[in-house]
Amino acid sequence: MRITGHLINGEHLTGGETADVFNPATGEVCARVCLAGEDEVAQAVAAARAAFAGWRNTPPARRARVMFRFRQLLEEHADDICRLICEEHGKTLDDARGELQRGMENVEYACGVPELLKGDYTRNVGPDIDAWSDFQPLGIVAGITPFNFPAMVPLWMYPLAIACGNCFILKPSEQDPGAALLIARLLEQAGLPPGVMNVVQGGKAVVDALLGQEAVRAISFVGSTPVAESLYARGSAAGKRVQALGGAKNHAVLMPDADLDLAVPALMGAAFGSCGERCMAISVAVCVGDAMADALIARLAPAIRELRIGPGHRDGLDMGPVISGAHLARIQGCLEQGLAEGAELVVDGRGIQVAGYEGGYFLGGCLFDRVTPGMRIYREEIFGPVLCVVRVASLADAIGLVNGHEYGNGTCLFTRDGEAARRFGDDIEVGMVGINVPLPVPVAYHSFGGWKRSLFGDLGAYGPDGVRFYTRRKTLTQRWPAPLSGEKSQFAFPSL
Ligand code: NAD
Repeated sequence: MRITGHLINGEHLTGGETADVFNPATGEVCARVCLAGEDEVAQAVAAARAAFAGWRNTPPARRARVMFRFRQLLEEHADDICRLICEEHGKTLDDARGELQRGMENVEYACGVPELLKGDYTRNVGPDIDAWSDFQPLGIVAGITPFNFPAMVPLWMYPLAIACGNCFILKPSEQDPGAALLIARLLEQAGLPPGVMNVVQGGKAVVDALLGQEAVRAISFVGSTPVAESLYARGSAAGKRVQALGGAKNHAVLMPDADLDLAVPALMGAAFGSCGERCMAISVAVCVGDAMADALIARLAPAIRELRIGPGHRDGLDMGPVISGAHLARIQGCLEQGLAEGAELVVDGRGIQVAGYEGGYFLGGCLFDRVTPGMRIYREEIFGPVLCVVRVASLADAIGLVNGHEYGNGTCLFTRDGEAARRFGDDIEVGMVGINVPLPVPVAYHSFGGWKRSLFGDLGAYGPDGVRFYTRRKTLTQRWPAPLSGEKSQFAFPSL
């Protein structure tokens, strides 16, 4: 049985309490994960503290070279990483490769850190006085990540944080912790000094211990909104810098002129890829006009029934299982709720069997029509392969609907009308917007961040926002005058 332990000061530590890690395709235990407590967190903090002095003074170009080697190792070990993601998370191998690729793009961005940390300089801000601002690391930074992207979301955080000169403590999801540990060990192999990158496994107890550590100066969190909101409040109250990315309900709006040859395959991938367990998954299709709704459903329903579902390692599949038995039961509860509320279940994915994998957490794609804004299946994040169709009369109604939702992570519009696209882009209160692009996940050199209750904090993840989050500005004003003669004290505020 594989034991996934902690990585502290360059050592893989196991022992103490453990929890089961399940293979969602079989429902069987595939590994055990160690559960840390305050002691392991204190050890990781001590290791990071000891490493910080040397790492912050390591020239950025050398820090970048570690990232170049790290990227190379990620490519060389991609098959092992993706197999592990597939085994513990359940997503298809192709999807795992996509996740890893998007994660690696953040390492590529971090390779440019000498350029990213270049400050601003002004000569002669006053007589013989020069000033410059630069961006200095915070010290020890922690990352807490969700189950749904076990490789990519951690890679949003620590390559950039570390390249900026910080030391890092990662707490991966206890549901699929293997890939994060494997990847962190590659970073050590790339030449990172021990203690700069640490991984502490476990659940809430680790998060509580990290919050209790004064030396942890900042926390990046990605997960569900209730936990994000509470972590933001607790972390901020403890004087930490916190960015906490939360849940979502992402709408795709289809105008009457939308090209369904483009929109239907796009929606299929965006709603059912990774079983809908993506924070940018499209979970609501908003159709402007009944004709569009009827045409969309007529094309979506057969495509959903034909989804190829099975264990993620098998070739040619569209969807694997959901993450756990508990999550499967929760999604099934949402389906019951939707029916009880009067929505029309056009495609019912319950009860599918995958031969040889009867214990797996499989659910077929589901499609609800005639969903209304008051229903719980509309208001709450389901995080499963369930797409809800809402019918509206106009673009203005669609924008009003999206803006009325508590979440504002991603959205998209399908149209051939440039004026409608422009208006949507201007008026929609959502952080990441696609026009004829279903999953507008920003590339690594932009930044990722939702609005409203999808992000607590001021800065998004990775890219330029990431650099700002993991550094603080210092401005130096310096004077080297010629020998002074009779300089007088000046009591008025200095000005030119
Ligand atoms: P989760 O909130 O249950 O867990 C996230 C992390 O927080 C895990 O590491 C977990 O161990 C820890 N945690 C769980 N409960 C906690 C508690 N009470 N106190 C402290 N820590 C706790 O989320 P999940 O189920 O792993 O992930 C799915 C959620 O993440 C969805 O809501 C999804 O939308 C969201 N998500 C958001 C983004 C984004 O960028 N906005 C990206 C990916 C996932």
